[in-house]
Amino acid sequence: MNINRRMVLGGISTAAAAAVLPVEISRPAPDGTRVRKIATEEAFVIPEMIGPLRDVLRRGGPNLDLKLLALIYGEVSAAALPSGAMPGANRDAFARTLLPLLLDIDAGRLGDMDANGVDVHLLSLGIPGVQMFERDTAVALATLTNDRLSEAVRRHPTRFCGLAAFAPQDPNAAAKEMERAINSLKLNGFLVNSHTDNAYLDAPRFWPILEAAEALDAPLYIHPRAPSDGMAAPFGDYRLEGSAWGYGVETGTHVMRLIFSGVLDRFPRLRIVIGHMGEALPFWMWRLDFMGAPGSRAGRKNQLKPSEYFQRNFAITTSGVEDPLALRFAIDKLGVDHVMWAIDYPYQATAPAVAFLDAASLSDQERAKISYQNAERIFRIAPSRQ
Ligand code: MN
Repeated sequence: MNINRRMVLGGISTAAAAAVLPVEISRPAPDGTRVRKIATEEAFVIPEMIGPLRDVLRRGGPNLDLKLLALIYGEVSAAALPSGAMPGANRDAFARTLLPLLLDIDAGRLGDMDANGVDVHLLSLGIPGVQMFERDTAVALATLTNDRLSEAVRRHPTRFCGLAAFAPQDPNAAAKEMERAINSLKLNGFLVNSHTDNAYLDAPRFWPILEAAEALDAPLYIHPRAPSDGMAAPFGDYRLEGSAWGYGVETGTHVMRLIFSGVLDRFPRLRIVIGHMGEALPFWMWRLDFMGAPGSRAGRKNQLKPSEYFQRNFAITTSGVEDPLALRFAIDKLGVDHVMWAIDYPYQATAPAVAFLDAASLSDQERAKISYQNAERIFRIAPSRQ
């Protein structure tokens, strides 16, 4: 890998660069061999999703995810959208370019990976998955998505692996599809886009999903979507609902519901992955433990401290957070075995995510774990045959 260090650091503030430079740094290729890169939160969609997503847009309603969906899947009048939906900023213009990238699980995507030295995409169905469809459509499209995903993996077995979609709207059908995804399709786990119809996975009706994930010993990735309707109001302005802030609040809240509800005591071997450097939870961990210890408040049912659940049940990925200090903190707080690299392709570009990883102050052992070894272990991805 020929990463020009000055070029890499050019994108980092002087203060951050100063913090990085004095530390003992392992280069990506200290002995001339490349370090394998497995990217663990990489989105795709299938063309059959577009029509039903446009139906969702036409129906409209208060859901804040409609703002991003309108940009990507488009063709809807402003009147049908929540206020503030019309684009203007560059991120919105960028969102309008994403659909072809999402649809490509062949040459174009592989070209982007090759150009940037990325070995593997762990693929998952893009936000909001099948979770905004009515039940039967959701079940059918989850099945079709997983078939297509498995075909893409079979076409490119050394480059792609995948997390299965499922329809939380029908938890028993979801559990069956999860079983098929692991045992027949040989996929690597599951991904859910946080709430479904404003309900969270601690609700007993979703327990067949948690039970299946635990029994299959395959990780459940909880990916963001915009805050659920009950907490949406203050997120409705300034595009606060999305990747800048609302996604993290929504997903962090989802995780804390799983922890404080005690549902992880019912499913102690459930393995959960969250993105975006842990959705801010590592930074809060001391206070979560202090205020969230077992029995600390009436109504809480957790038997362990939040940090103990993190050690037992959780791993995080770096998706979309290219901050070397946040990475260092996450490693030191959670342990290096709990952190994996991700790009968040195509919502974020590959080159800066690669440059971030290559420039990070990591020991050789840390680099190997974050770059590929943790992903191989957690998602049961076959080691490279190189
Ligand atoms: Mn993502």
